[in-house]
Amino acid sequence: LRGVVALDGPSGTGKTTVARKLAARLGAGYLDTGAMYRIVTLAVLRAGDDPADSDAVGHRAHEADFTIGTTPDHPELRLAGEDVAADIRGPEVTQAVSAVSAVPQVRELLVSRQRRIIADVLAETGGIVVEGRDIGTVVAPESPLKVYLTASADVRAARRSGQDSAAGRQSSVEAARESVQRRDHLDSTRATSPLRAAEDAVPVDTSELTIDQVIVALSELACR
Ligand code: C5P
Repeated sequence: LRGVVALDGPSGTGKTTVARKLAARLGAGYLDTGAMYRIVTLAVLRAGDDPADSDAVGHRAHEADFTIGTTPDHPELRLAGEDVAADIRGPEVTQAVSAVSAVPQVRELLVSRQRRIIADVLAETGGIVVEGRDIGTVVAPESPLKVYLTASADVRAARRSGQDSAAGRQSSVEAARESVQRRDHLDSTRATSPLRAAEDAVPVDTSELTIDQVIVALSELACR
């Protein structure tokens, strides 16, 4: 792979699994931008800041000492040196992350870090798969391949509930549906860089596809 594959879409569409497997298959790097918003959210919550207080959140984001790995097999996520890969997927962070990611100072900071990481990985390996909500529209609008993943509300709720259960967290399909819909609403209606497909993104509906089928389809697009 040469260049950036921009993979955007709402939650529960299979983005993370697809992005990691695709990157591994293409011998490319991988960047989970959602994880960066989650780490900042964890820092906000641990400090006892109010996620709705944008000044406090913006300040915390600048203070937070975190790192994110770019290897698709084992992308390390650390906050002040501590491995927080599991903590950032917990319900408290999931509940607060949309408010934190709507703060303009947070987006400015993270988008500039994301661009720097992408440039470093491109210099090293030549290719990277980047997943998020605004990769094709804001972070890397020059990407030669932009994909917008979708899936029906039922499928997304069922996938999210399955992931939660696999991680040892109780989650009914109904609760997952509410959580996914709430986050999508907040993410797609915020003032700064709302979730939307880039005009030149290829839409891929994953409702009826297995992960492997999605990977095959995207590998073909990436290698065209
Ligand atoms: O992808 P994931 O579900 O981990 O993303 C968590 C949250 O981070 C999203 O609900 C959204 O609020 C925010 N996000 C964002 N821009 C991105 C990636 C994620 O605002 N590029």
